Amino acid sequence: MLKIKCQNCKEYFKYPSDALTRAEIENKVGRYFRYQCPHCLSNKEYHVNDIRAHDNQKLLLLYFLFALFANIGTLIYFWSIGLIPNIGFLFMTTIGVRILIVSIVPFVVFLLLKKQMEKKNAFFNKHRVSKTR
Ligand SMILES: [Zn+2]
Repeated sequence: MLKIKCQNCKEYFKYPSDALTRAEIENKVGRYFRYQCPHCLSNKEYHVNDIRAHDNQKLLLLYFLFALFANIGTLIYFWSIGLIPNIGFLFMTTIGVRILIVSIVPFVVFLLLKKQMEKKNAFFNKHRVSKTR
């Protein structure tokens, strides 16, 4: 999620773009562009380097909840078809451990998505464009 810190009220606001680099934004709107802060409504000029990529915490929470429900859902499914007679079974037997591993897959996917987002944002923040006009 791309954000700009307002020069007037110092609040961060969202910059609506899914660009992967600052150069991409520069190609569209120019190196310097005017933008209105939705908090204080002041219209200021910004440099593309003022745009920073932040982790989308809401999206991460959504992914996490999805992984949690998939994890619980998987365990409930195996329990409902009689494959998990008790909790100890999950840790003590080969089949139990396999079921446990399968149920953890959604969390692995969550961590991969999180890592991908962080990598993408770090890449965006690392590559600046020249300050000169
Ligand atoms: Zn503002």
